[in-house]
Amino acid sequence: MAKVIAVCNQKGGVGKSTTAVNVASYLALSGKSTLVIDMDPQANATTALGINRRELEEDFYGTLIEGTPLGDAVKHTSIEGLDVVPASMDLAGAELKLVAMPEREMILRRALEPLAEEYEFILLDCPPSLGLLTLNALVAADSTMIPIQCEYLALEGLSSLMGTINLVKERLNPSLHVGGIVLTMTDFRANLTKEVAQEVRNFFKELVFDTCIPRSIRLAESPSFGKPICQYDPDSTAAFAYRNLTQELMTRHGAL
Ligand code: ATP
Ligand code: MG
Repeated sequence: MAKVIAVCNQKGGVGKSTTAVNVASYLALSGKSTLVIDMDPQANATTALGINRRELEEDFYGTLIEGTPLGDAVKHTSIEGLDVVPASMDLAGAELKLVAMPEREMILRRALEPLAEEYEFILLDCPPSLGLLTLNALVAADSTMIPIQCEYLALEGLSSLMGTINLVKERLNPSLHVGGIVLTMTDFRANLTKEVAQEVRNFFKELVFDTCIPRSIRLAESPSFGKPICQYDPDSTAAFAYRNLTQELMTRHGAL
């Protein structure tokens, strides 16, 4: 059965898509068949995996709103063992349409069932909101991976995220848990990074991964070439960090 991980934080620009894409690519390179589902209308994960969001026949919107089987929207990437369900701009209208649909929070969970045997890991790249798209991810997931950017106000909004996760756990998905917190865009020369990292570790303790993702120009450049860091610059410090983070994740999931 696939381990389903929602990469979420309603704060924007904290490294969700970068983390989803790069962890997924190292999972695939470690021999774990992996699927990324792009649940964000911005389609950043789709683009970063080298897929043109303007030339899609099927995408996640079709599954969510029109009931197309999720498998029909799966695309292979240039990395063996890594597939993606892309997002198109149509997804921007999905939140509004979902409101009127019955059992609207269960749609992804049900759509994933036929694929659960095909993949070892399924990563859900969530949009920066706590709306119905993220709710669908939390209901479908076994665990969450929460990127936190080591900047001022890093912890702002985390209590509402934790509150939402607990509510989903109580009401809709008892097996949901926080699988890990990852510190992103760190620069340990800066006092702010040190302070935020310490604050997050004091509060979330062993939930925080040992590996931090450093601020890296190579990482920021890679999506514009449609390549994860393992292809764009495999010897960079950022590549090394995402490889280590993926090892930690696999250890936590007993998948090493
Ligand atoms: P959104 O909330 O908009 O979906 P996000 O949380 O998915 O954003 P990303 O898109 O992964 O965040 O990252 C935000 C921006 O920061 C992107 O331009 C990305 O390329 C860049 N970025 C992500 N991680 C790093 C890093 N470690 N170093 C430098 N730039 C980074
Ligand atoms: Mg994103």
